[in-house]
Amino acid sequence: SYSKIVAAYDGSNLANKALDHAARLAEAFGAELTVVHAYTTPMLNSGDMLITAPAEWAQEYVQHSGKVLEAAKARVPAGIRAEYKLLEGYPAQAVLEYASDSGADLIVMGSRGLGAIREFVLGSVSHNVAQHSKIPVLVVK
Ligand code: ATP
Ligand code: MG
Ligand code: MG
Repeated sequence: SYSKIVAAYDGSNLANKALDHAARLAEAFGAELTVVHAYTTPMLNSGDMLITAPAEWAQEYVQHSGKVLEAAKARVPAGIRAEYKLLEGYPAQAVLEYASDSGADLIVMGSRGLGAIREFVLGSVSHNVAQHSKIPVLVVK
């Protein structure tokens, strides 16, 4: 049985499919569902220094991420207990950290996401989460 399920969401078709599975599992087990989306504040090369992107860029990332989470919200059937969280950081690391900090017992994610390179079975985020997670990971394809 599962009591706390984390669904990693990037708005892609496979993330939608994964979210549907996560919602079904949450319903079947009466588990808490948390949908997380991570955004990364870009670093820019400035001569020989790395600088953080201008604040107004970060604002746009947050705004876009809010829309991604809204799409997730619209997809999860009413009556399923769910929370929606925006995480800052590299997606795999942020998802793993959130799952561990929140005491989650299952991570659900798509095998691929929005990335363009199609020849791999797993994207870099699903690959890294599956590789480093200490709890079970359901990779939906
Ligand atoms: P890549 O990003 O390496 O080019 P990709 O986009 O095809 O490849 P991933 O990014 O690994 O593949 O996506 C696999 C799954 O990881 C997605 O279906 C989604 O569940 C999750 N995921 C990807 N990006 C994020 C993110 N920013 N926040 C939360 N979950 C994410
Ligand atoms: Mg991706
Ligand atoms: Mg990526």
